[in-house]
Amino acid sequence: MGGRLPLLVSESAAIPPAAIPSDVTPAAAPTPAETDVLIIGGGVCGTALLFELARYTDLGHLTLVERYDQLAQVNSRATNNSQTIHCGDIETNYSLEKARAVKRTAEMIGRYAELLAPEQASRCVFRTPKLVLAVGERECAFLRQRFALFSPHFPAMELLEKAQIAEWEPAVALVDGVLRPEELVAIGIRNSPTAVDYEALAESFVQQARLALAGSERQLNLQLGTEAERLVPEADAIRVELRGPEGPYTLRARHVVVNAGAHSLLLAQRLGFGLQYSCLPVAGSFYFTPDLLRGKVYTVQNDKLPFAAIHGDPDVRAPGKTRFGPTALLLPLLERYRPASFWQFLQVLRLDWAVLAAFWQLFSVADIRGYILRNLLFELPWLGRRLFLADARKIVPGMQLEDLRFAKGYGGVRPQLIDKRNRRLMLGEVSIPAIPRLIFNVTPSPGGTCCLGNAERDLEVIAAQLGCRLDRQRLALELHGVPPTVIRSSGLGEQLEGQSDAA
Ligand SMILES: Cc1cc2nc3c(=O)[nH]c(=O)nc-3n(C[C@H](O)[C@H](O)[C@H](O)COP(=O)(O)OP(=O)(O)OC[C@H]3O[C@@H](n4cnc5c(N)ncnc54)[C@H](O)[C@@H]3O)c2cc1C
Repeated sequence: MGGRLPLLVSESAAIPPAAIPSDVTPAAAPTPAETDVLIIGGGVCGTALLFELARYTDLGHLTLVERYDQLAQVNSRATNNSQTIHCGDIETNYSLEKARAVKRTAEMIGRYAELLAPEQASRCVFRTPKLVLAVGERECAFLRQRFALFSPHFPAMELLEKAQIAEWEPAVALVDGVLRPEELVAIGIRNSPTAVDYEALAESFVQQARLALAGSERQLNLQLGTEAERLVPEADAIRVELRGPEGPYTLRARHVVVNAGAHSLLLAQRLGFGLQYSCLPVAGSFYFTPDLLRGKVYTVQNDKLPFAAIHGDPDVRAPGKTRFGPTALLLPLLERYRPASFWQFLQVLRLDWAVLAAFWQLFSVADIRGYILRNLLFELPWLGRRLFLADARKIVPGMQLEDLRFAKGYGGVRPQLIDKRNRRLMLGEVSIPAIPRLIFNVTPSPGGTCCLGNAERDLEVIAAQLGCRLDRQRLALELHGVPPTVIRSSGLGEQLEGQSDAA
């Protein structure tokens, strides 16, 4: 039980400032409450880590703080992302190498759902068909080649000709009951976990974390409505200044993981870490249509563009509606619909010549310039809907203007980082190097998909730092589907078993 703290606080003893005696002088300041691991941010990434710490380690005290009064109200909120599990099979902007890496972590979500009671699993993870559509000669040739390369690694993939597409997704291949004229081909996956309510998933992670600790002396301290304001590294811990519903207080944590979206960069830079990065917030909006699709329909990606082309997805929280999007709008906010986050955007932008050079590089590509402008126009009330319709008709050629309705209040902001040293836009997630005991994660797409995989990576670092027990064998069995016999008979298995009690 290497991970036990000498001083533990219970959920109820979450140190409101009122509990600190008023006659305490600075010299005799009370010892701040302590925790083994403090997670900052209650989105799907922070809660996934909480779940894994609770289930697979023996750490005695875990704390998660979240600024809002509810979990997962920013990018992980059900309305704010596309609800997709990105497995790499229908995302044509992924290389085979990236697709295989993403597939491994994406599958962890489906396996996690199998640990849940069926009723809870059915609120988190959804099975539908999905396909990626190629339209026209050039895209079709590309997709056929891709099928040949990818299908050995994705055995569920099927190559669909026009008539089969019409069977899977009539609205995609037919207009007024007749096959559309363009050349079409698609790669389809008939039935797999394809969609996730990341908000419900986050709630389930906390519930499962509580269950893992139930009946033991181990404690979980969930502090909603609590913002981490400042982190101060000390010799063997991180002191964190927090502001909760009762006012400010301090917590000492043996290890801190910041999973606060774009705010991770803000907190890191306040400490002098991650100064090599700037942040380009890219908002995504959506449009609703009636129930036009049976499953997810993606399109072949223009490889010059840094963001995924719009796709059609049945909304898991709005039965009978299909959502199209997301758009890609450059927006000077760290959080959508929160104008005050403009000031925080200015802090992480860190505008200088390197950032301007990265912007210049981006805007010098004609396809990107056109794309950025078009996405700006999508937001305009009259014109936006008409322009969006033209793009959405690549997926559903018979779509009419009256089918489309702007999804008001939907959509989040992808915190894309700019690498100032190399003057380029970075895609995907970034873990900002800091000091031992302190991790900052910034997670644009596919951050929802990779929540359990990223948590596993951080779990290893925490176990190595704190010397707690980490049950790798149970994790491999439950989340990677590696049965004990396979673990034992492979070299990897011996390694896993040998390390299962990290000192
Ligand atoms: C338009 C769009 C579509 C997307 N579609 C997909 C998709 O289909 N599939 C996919 O895998 N990914 C998708 N993503 C990405 C995905 O939504 C994110 O990667 C994921 O939600 C990130 O989770 P998170 O927990 O890191 O961040 P968030 O969900 O943003 O959570 C961060 C939390 O930290 C809290 N916080 C911030 N600062 C503090 C502080 N100082 N103190 C305490 N709490 C704090 C916030 O309140 C928030 O709750 C999409 C993103 C966007 C914007």
